[in-house]
Amino acid sequence: ERQELLKLKDDETTTSDGIKVELGANIGTPEDVEIVLENGAEGIGLFRTEFLYMGRNELPTEDEQYESYKAVLERMEDKPVVVRTIDIGGDKELSYLDMPKELNPFLGYRAIRMALDNKNLFRTQLRALLRASVHGHLKVMFPMIATVEEFEEAKALLIECRDELKADGVDVSDDIEVGIMVEIPSTAVLADEFAKVVDFFSIGTNDLIQYTFAADRMNENVSYLYQPYHPALLRLIHNVIKAAHDQDKWVGMCGEMAGDKTAIPLLVGLGLDEFSMSAGSVLKARQQIADLKKTDMEQLADTAMRSPKSDTVTALVKEYTERS
Ligand code: PEP
Ligand code: MG
Repeated sequence: ERQELLKLKDDETTTSDGIKVELGANIGTPEDVEIVLENGAEGIGLFRTEFLYMGRNELPTEDEQYESYKAVLERMEDKPVVVRTIDIGGDKELSYLDMPKELNPFLGYRAIRMALDNKNLFRTQLRALLRASVHGHLKVMFPMIATVEEFEEAKALLIECRDELKADGVDVSDDIEVGIMVEIPSTAVLADEFAKVVDFFSIGTNDLIQYTFAADRMNENVSYLYQPYHPALLRLIHNVIKAAHDQDKWVGMCGEMAGDKTAIPLLVGLGLDEFSMSAGSVLKARQQIADLKKTDMEQLADTAMRSPKSDTVTALVKEYTERS
């Protein structure tokens, strides 16, 4: 079976009616790039940079970070690499930073909130990324954006760092797309406004689901509420994709849902442009998508969004995919 799948390694990803989508992989360290390439991913849809900060006693320097980003970009050649800026806080703590103990860490001081409050730490990362940008096809992504102001502030800091580097004679790529993760309901709801100012969206369903259903992603007692196929979530995703496409922007997904075989038909139908998943799922997803007809999946997604509950949706997916 693996042998069959490997034949798809250098193929593009298209539906049976010829609509192309992009399959990327998620990575956590530069070492992960090898399996990404072995599995025929078309890019990296999420590079979680937390590894740089964790399991050590002090902040990583600009040069250290530069070397890591450069290694990944060079190895991926011209394939896109979406690097997400620091997403520490929530369940991920750093011993050497004096982070507040919080009652609700997932609703607290994490990711972009913490980065915008620690400008020196954030600048160091942005400068390292900008310097690395000439070594490949870099896209920068900010996590946990809840308001347009947060995006504007982060983007302004990135521009400031770029201008500073250029003034010092450092080479920086001129076409770095700057996007955001959509993982907070406020951002999914206001996607039309965000779409005017960002270059792309990547939907982080791991968090978007927990915030939509107010169900902690780590708490088994409420895991029954953690429902990727729920029409409420599908409508949010639909809103994001529609808003982006109205402004000619692309939308990816980098949460677990992007690699889930029950979700994929729905996501194809909703018009998702890019799917980023664990490397091991890429070839299977490519094979699955090749058998899906986009126009049928559009109908499926439409009906799913008008269903009352997850069970109705999964039954619909079964019916549609068995029919084709
Ligand atoms: C997500 O929230 O879906 C996501 C990809 O980010 P993380 O899992 O790192 O929070
Ligand atoms: Mg997240």
